[in-house]
Amino acid sequence: MEEDDEGFRYPIIDSEKCIGCGRCHKVCPMENTPVRHQEEKVVYGGHHISTDVVLASTSGGAFSAIVDGWCDMNYVIFGAESKGTRILHSYIEDKRDISIFRKSKYAQSEIGNSYIKTKEFLKAGKKVLFSGTPCQIAGLEMFLGSCNRTNLLTIEVICEGIPSPLLIRKLSKHYGDIRDIDYRNKTKYGHWDFQMMKIETSHGAKVIDRWFNPFWSIWLQHLISRPSCYECPFATKERVADISLGDLWGVHLFCPELYNHNRGASLIICNSKKGKEALNHALPFMEGHFLQYEEAVKYQSPLRKPIEYNKRREVCLEDLRDDAITYKEIVSKYATKPSIRLLIHKYVWGNRQKMLLWNIFNKRR
Ligand SMILES: Cc1cc2nc3c(=O)[nH]c(=O)nc-3n(C[C@H](O)[C@H](O)[C@H](O)COP(=O)(O)OP(=O)(O)OC[C@H]3O[C@@H](n4cnc5c(N)ncnc54)[C@H](O)[C@@H]3O)c2cc1C
Repeated sequence: MEEDDEGFRYPIIDSEKCIGCGRCHKVCPMENTPVRHQEEKVVYGGHHISTDVVLASTSGGAFSAIVDGWCDMNYVIFGAESKGTRILHSYIEDKRDISIFRKSKYAQSEIGNSYIKTKEFLKAGKKVLFSGTPCQIAGLEMFLGSCNRTNLLTIEVICEGIPSPLLIRKLSKHYGDIRDIDYRNKTKYGHWDFQMMKIETSHGAKVIDRWFNPFWSIWLQHLISRPSCYECPFATKERVADISLGDLWGVHLFCPELYNHNRGASLIICNSKKGKEALNHALPFMEGHFLQYEEAVKYQSPLRKPIEYNKRREVCLEDLRDDAITYKEIVSKYATKPSIRLLIHKYVWGNRQKMLLWNIFNKRR
């Protein structure tokens, strides 16, 4: 796998060693359609019963609840961990080590030998919980071919595309170095929907909230996503993974009782029988309730369609490649500033304040 000049990794075929069997094309999830679950979905919203777990997780800690319930004996868990600004797929054999996989890392993980190891573990009779992006799950399914999947549970994150690492590298240069990034930092008071980013450098830590963060602005304008994300074949209702996990966006509108003091709320969609069984095992570790599919996914466009192409994408990536262009210049050219209306909505009178009143009113009743 080699990086291209946008920072995305692609397989490179060694023409001297290639025997032309075409197997790589046969297992490519972009060229073939992996089996998608068609059965009726079960949807659950809520959060882990432990506040510490919720605060250490991106959303409501549903991933940890599923691990708690499903991983009993003889299991392996695969997920994405960060090593500085690099994101690697790896595995653990003891669920007490789960913290390395917690928290969304908004960059493509290097899959390494995770697919090969998964096959080996399944063949050895181990239970394997494999988590990743929808395309990584599709890649795994294609790779496994006829391998017995009885002991495999796949969990995908609902995904709005993968950003190029070039922006974070520019940011790293700006700070001198970055030791670690927590993309969705929470305080003991919560602030889940503020999506605060905590950047650890050798000079200390910096926390930036969602509305003033150039990373969120540039990425979510879809200026730096991987080319395949704009035509993602997995951004549909029918899913490849057993379970899809996301944020319970819109919680204040259709189930305010699950807002969880802005500490984080999870959306769990079970796409298969195996997914539903795993949810049943996770329920003792969750607080929440079942939801209607259509209502719960209203604010989840990645479950309906791929992201839209931004016409400024190529020029933005060209600027990011240019060493002479500084991070500050990138920010002033591409990042948007929050409007006064948005700031009033976020800080003065908006969902958070309405939820505060809702909580006070409902406690009194
Ligand atoms: C690139 C990306 C885009 C996302 N986009 C959306 C979105 O548009 N809407 C939405 O509702 N949710 C989105 N999510 C999912 C959301 O951020 C949470 O990951 C999810 O709700 C699980 O949270 P949790 O509290 O249950 O678990 P946590 O304990 O926080 O679990 C994190 C899980 O995410 C996996 N993970 C973390 N980083 C990566 C990565 N780089 N590649 C593959 N897997 C990773 C871990 O392996 C683990 O399974 C996205 C996640 C990622 C990584």
